Amino acid sequence: MGDITKIDANLAAVNQIISAGGDTVKRCYQCATCSSVCPLAPDEAPFPRKQMLLAQWGFKEKLLSDPSIWLCHQCGDCTKYCPRNARPGDVLASLRLQATRELVPFKFMHTLYNNLWGLPILILIALAIILPIMFLTFQGVPSLSDPTSFPYSPVHYKIGFMDLPARVLMNDLIFLPLSVFIIAIMANAVSRMWNSYLETYKIPQAYRIGYIDVIKTYLIPALKEILAHSRFEKCGANSWRANPHKMLLFGFIILFIVTGTVFFLADILGMHTPWNPITHPVKWLGYIGGLLLLYGVIGLITGRNQAVLENSLRTTYSDAFLLWLIFVVGITGFLIPLSRIFTFYYNYVGYIYLAHIIAVFLLFLSVLYSKFSHLVLRTTAVIFDLYYKDVLKKL
Ligand code: SF4
Ligand code: SF4
Repeated sequence: MGDITKIDANLAAVNQIISAGGDTVKRCYQCATCSSVCPLAPDEAPFPRKQMLLAQWGFKEKLLSDPSIWLCHQCGDCTKYCPRNARPGDVLASLRLQATRELVPFKFMHTLYNNLWGLPILILIALAIILPIMFLTFQGVPSLSDPTSFPYSPVHYKIGFMDLPARVLMNDLIFLPLSVFIIAIMANAVSRMWNSYLETYKIPQAYRIGYIDVIKTYLIPALKEILAHSRFEKCGANSWRANPHKMLLFGFIILFIVTGTVFFLADILGMHTPWNPITHPVKWLGYIGGLLLLYGVIGLITGRNQAVLENSLRTTYSDAFLLWLIFVVGITGFLIPLSRIFTFYYNYVGYIYLAHIIAVFLLFLSVLYSKFSHLVLRTTAVIFDLYYKDVLKKL
């Protein structure tokens, strides 16, 4: 008689998966229909049947070191055809949240981001950082109902060759350190993720390459794929998501370019803002980015609502939170410059400006603590997928 190996389920991990939206995981009876219908699963490493089994046992380490959970785009084809309604697409979404939680420090922030009761606490955290910097840069407590006090105060700072209005310095002091914090933590998460993938796929030392070579060889092809949404477009059940998601991504890219341009022109060159909201080209670029962002996010919100009715997708709090947060960023971002054209609400622009900064602050941090982490972590998995395919060709 052969040896018997006893395997213990990690019940705590199973419960985490269930509470993050994977409550149907136990229904799976391993028929493998999902892996055969998944349009994105590669032949050499099919998913999501295997991941469903690992999730049922709570094999967290194996799941977290598996790029497949990120290669899934929650298109819902597997959920549509699963005979047990085990909703593998939704289970994989919950695994991505778990992976994010494990890879990024300060887990309490992840808890706050993914539960409704955490929202007021997040807003208080944002205010605790924003308000002192606001009071410091505006040299006191500005009046939110007086636009000449906030945000368009005449207070300026001459720092070296720079001439910064108070609101510009305030934004710099808030968002530059925040960006450095996010980049440092994400870089560490990506490095851990990459190394765990190398071990999972047992990549021989001879085929391992340094980060610089990975970036030089695979980043551009991965970005091309992501920009074209070529994986998304293979989806069947929820194919409607590709277009609004693409528009949302383009909106973010344009707004990122606008932010960089404003930083260069206003901070470095000292070109005085606010610029004319009707005639300035950077404003127009911002409007185009904002419109794409709003078009994308409204398309995703309404499409999700429809998909939920059709049972092809489930919307968790984490999904809804991110979409509505982006919506608030987009709307408040528009209302600020438009208040100078449609002046009937100009006196409230201070409140809108503060709401916008809070929303942008939470959106920045959400890259670490919400499903928005897919911006970086799915990109890493796509890069690994391209790299692994090349390794297989050489083996
Ligand atoms: S998730 Fe559904 S389709 Fe996939 S193996 Fe389990 S029961 Fe079958
Ligand atoms: S949701 Fe779509 S991409 Fe994800 S496992 Fe299912 S079929 Fe594949």
